[in-house]
Amino acid sequence: MKKQTHTLLKNIFGYETFRPLQEEIIDRTIEGKDSFVLMPTGGGKSMCFQIPALIFDGITIVVSPLISLMKDQVQALKANGIKADFFNSSITPEKENTVIDKALKGELQLLYLSPEKLISVSNTWLKELNIKLVAIDEAHCVSMWGHDFRPEYTQLKTFRNSLPSVPFMALTATADKSARKDIEAQLGLKNSKLFISSFDRKNLSIEVRGQVTKKKKLQEIVNFIERRKNESGIIYCLSRKNTEEVADYLKDLRHSVAFYHAGMNPEERERVQTEFINDDTKIIVATIAFGMGIDKSNVRFVIHYNLPKNLEGYYQEIGRSGRDGLAAETLLYYNMRDFVLYSQFADGGANTAMQKEKLNRMLQFAEAKSCRRKILLSYFGEHLAQDCGNCDVCENPPKGFEGTILTQKALSGIARMGEKEGITMLINVLRGSNNADIHAKQFFNLKTYGIGKDVSFYDWRDYVIQMANQGLIEIMYSESSALKISPIGWKVLKGEKNIQLTTPLSSEDKKKKQKVVKVVAEGEINTDLFTELKKIRYFISREENVPAYIIFNDKSLKLMASQLPVSENEFLAISGVGMNKMEQYGEEFMKVIRRFKSIEKPRKTPTTIETFNLYKEGLTPAEIAKKRGLSITTIFSHLSQLYIEGKEVELDNYITKEVVSKVGIAFNELGRKMELKPIYEKLNEKISYGEIRLGIALILKNE
Ligand code: ADP
Ligand code: ZN
Repeated sequence: MKKQTHTLLKNIFGYETFRPLQEEIIDRTIEGKDSFVLMPTGGGKSMCFQIPALIFDGITIVVSPLISLMKDQVQALKANGIKADFFNSSITPEKENTVIDKALKGELQLLYLSPEKLISVSNTWLKELNIKLVAIDEAHCVSMWGHDFRPEYTQLKTFRNSLPSVPFMALTATADKSARKDIEAQLGLKNSKLFISSFDRKNLSIEVRGQVTKKKKLQEIVNFIERRKNESGIIYCLSRKNTEEVADYLKDLRHSVAFYHAGMNPEERERVQTEFINDDTKIIVATIAFGMGIDKSNVRFVIHYNLPKNLEGYYQEIGRSGRDGLAAETLLYYNMRDFVLYSQFADGGANTAMQKEKLNRMLQFAEAKSCRRKILLSYFGEHLAQDCGNCDVCENPPKGFEGTILTQKALSGIARMGEKEGITMLINVLRGSNNADIHAKQFFNLKTYGIGKDVSFYDWRDYVIQMANQGLIEIMYSESSALKISPIGWKVLKGEKNIQLTTPLSSEDKKKKQKVVKVVAEGEINTDLFTELKKIRYFISREENVPAYIIFNDKSLKLMASQLPVSENEFLAISGVGMNKMEQYGEEFMKVIRRFKSIEKPRKTPTTIETFNLYKEGLTPAEIAKKRGLSITTIFSHLSQLYIEGKEVELDNYITKEVVSKVGIAFNELGRKMELKPIYEKLNEKISYGEIRLGIALILKNE
């Protein structure tokens, strides 16, 4: 059996080894037993039921509440040559009939259903199926203890009882101890075994920046994304208004960006989401409404523009990056204002005490001065033996020092201004600034005026926040953010208590750190080739109308760009390349790799751009072909690709409307597959391959 599962992993999915626990879960399922799988997002849960589904001689039912995710998963399975389909409220009655038909004829290995559809058909055609396995994804939805309760899920138990000898598998990424028990009971799992994999996502770097002004924050974000050109990322904001503001700001700077929030109509949300998944939009600025139904593997960064409400949400949100296992970066901004705002929200709602407690934990995490991953994982009940080395604290351990005198200076400043002034005035007075406000209030007469000249404004700011975090100062948001001294603060002022402070990160340190991160992230791949491969992937994905990462994920492309496979065997050795993908796409990708390796190795400009440059000089396709020693078909294919990418190319000059519509009909009749030969044959070999390319490009771009 082991051999068979391993062969499937390699031949169908193109992976060399199982991840921890996958093999055990698969074996247990094949034996017909129930399992409970708790793994983080991106941990590889789906594989646990997909391989048994391929082994069983019958159908596997997958229940999932996330309709958009279902389509993606089915597309991904199909790309690997697996017979799968889905059944939910998004499909037409005709499509429903086709799916039912296929299922009844035994032509499906996996069928994905939303819980409400499952319930509505459980007494009709579903009963006729030869069900061998049932997987309940997002199983936490059955528990009222969780944060995402869905009433339809509670009816799954009846379904379970109707199939007493079929193995059931519950899968989720979030469930604490009490929720786990509840889920098992609610779903009626029998003697199920719990499998918990580590929640550590080592490839995600963690960074937190506190108390940054809005202007600076936006500037930092711009710098951040400019250093990561063409990479996908999500920026989470607290409010809808914020998402629009930040997106507009970035759009003005010509970034590929869109906003997303629950106030938009469903069609628009769907469009924004699809464009992001297809890599047509690089950055999404969104409220936390975004992301649930998204399984995009190449999200390279997640930025939190505001403090999240709790660590569960935060971990889930950052977990949407780096699902392909490659390095991804996460950056959290917070300030006390977010915290106060959330506390006020919590006051009005249900479960106030619990929500506030969770919010406090979130803040403690943000303010922590020790390894952040350790804190995060210990919150989820997992203990790291060593510091992670991939968070901001590990990279720049804070230097502590005896800060009692510095603290006394600040506290005494606050006291002498009658606890009526805010942080900016305090620092200006300590530093002996000479501005109108200070004059008006005659603060230059204070004893504390100028006693902190030797410390920069930003460092003072950092220290005062540390004092607030240590409970020495209270920031009164209700009184224009005036600073007040707490009872412990008074003790420090009287010399009854000593205080440790940490040295703020200087901007120099930050710069150094960014350099290090960049080197690690890029590795040794050939970026020109990688860009080329991404282009082909994009082109194919448009032609086949599936998200780009379903063709190959970034990790596979990067491996191609570093290992340069040019034979079938070498290509199959790339992680993520199974038989089916090899057959479908291998040649197209290897062609580029071969060209890259041999003839055009010293070439700097991508081949399509060379064509584009000649085109702009006014050469005809035939002249370009001659000059470049390439076939005219290749030139037409370049021009089509350039056109799809949005370059100014007039394809209509080379093809008549009549030919376009002929190609269109054949293309549609053949299921919109981008295999040129069948189209060529269907059109009685009367229309050239080059024209077929052009025709398809025009159809795809203009529909
Ligand atoms: P989850 O459902 O737990 O969020 P997925 O099942 O979507 O995670 O898996 C995340 C990614 O990891 C997918 O791209 C999947 O193909 C990949 N993956 C799963 N198992 C393996 C494996 N054994 N080796 C390499 N990649 C794997
Ligand atoms: Zn760390």
